[in-house]
Amino acid sequence: MHKALKAAERPIDSAILTAVSKNQEWAAIEPVLAAGHRRFGENRVQEAHERWEGKRDIYPGLELRLIGPLQSNKAAEAVAFFDAIETIDRDKIARAVADEIQKQGRSPQLLIQVNIGEEAQKAGIAPREADAFIRAARETYGLTVAGLMCIPPVEGPRGPYFALLKKIADRNGISQLSMGMSDDFETAIAFGSTEIRVGSAIFGARAAQ
Ligand SMILES: *Cc1c(COP(=O)(O)O)cnc(C)c1O
Repeated sequence: MHKALKAAERPIDSAILTAVSKNQEWAAIEPVLAAGHRRFGENRVQEAHERWEGKRDIYPGLELRLIGPLQSNKAAEAVAFFDAIETIDRDKIARAVADEIQKQGRSPQLLIQVNIGEEAQKAGIAPREADAFIRAARETYGLTVAGLMCIPPVEGPRGPYFALLKKIADRNGISQLSMGMSDDFETAIAFGSTEIRVGSAIFGARAAQ
C-alpha cells in the first residue's frame, strides 16, 4: 500500500486500510488485532454482530464498517452497531438509515455504493443516477455523504471504473473513495482511492459463504 502511494506520488497517510474480516476464523483475525490494526470490514450485519459483540471493550478504537448490502429491516441494527455504512444505494435504505439516525442519535459515517460497471448481480446506484441520488441523500434525507464506494467488474482493466468513481465524487464535492481490493488496490490507489478494502491478501482465502 505504501509502495503504491509512493509510486502515485501521494502522501503515505492519504489512504487507509480496511481489513475485510468476513468469513474469517477468529484465529486469523486475532493476530491482526494484536499487531494493532483496528479497522475492519464486514459484509453481513448478523455475522458482524456475532463476531465483534463485546470486542470493543477489549480492543479500544475498534472501527467496524459495513461493506455488504443492507436490507431496510436491518437498518436499526446497522446504525446501532457499525461505525460506517458503505453501502447506501437506494431511496428505501437512505430513508431507513436517516430515520434510525434520528431515533438513535447515533451517526455512522455513510458512503454511497455505485454500481460502477452497471452489473445486474451487483448492488449500488447506477452511475448515471448517482448525482441525483447523492443530492436526494443530502437534501431529502438530510444525510452527510462522506464518500463513494464501488466494486468494479472482475473482467478487464479496473482503471476506467476507478476513474469514473473519482469523477462522480469530484463533481459532487466528495473526497472519500472506498475502492480497491486484494487484487487491484495498487491500481485503485493510482486512481485516487482513500480507502482500500482488503481481505484475502491479509487473512488468506476465506471459507466459502
Ligand atoms: C470481500 C470484499 C472485499 C475484500 O475482498 P478481497 O478480494 O478478499 O480483498 C472488499 N470489498 C467488499 C465489498 C467485499 O465484499
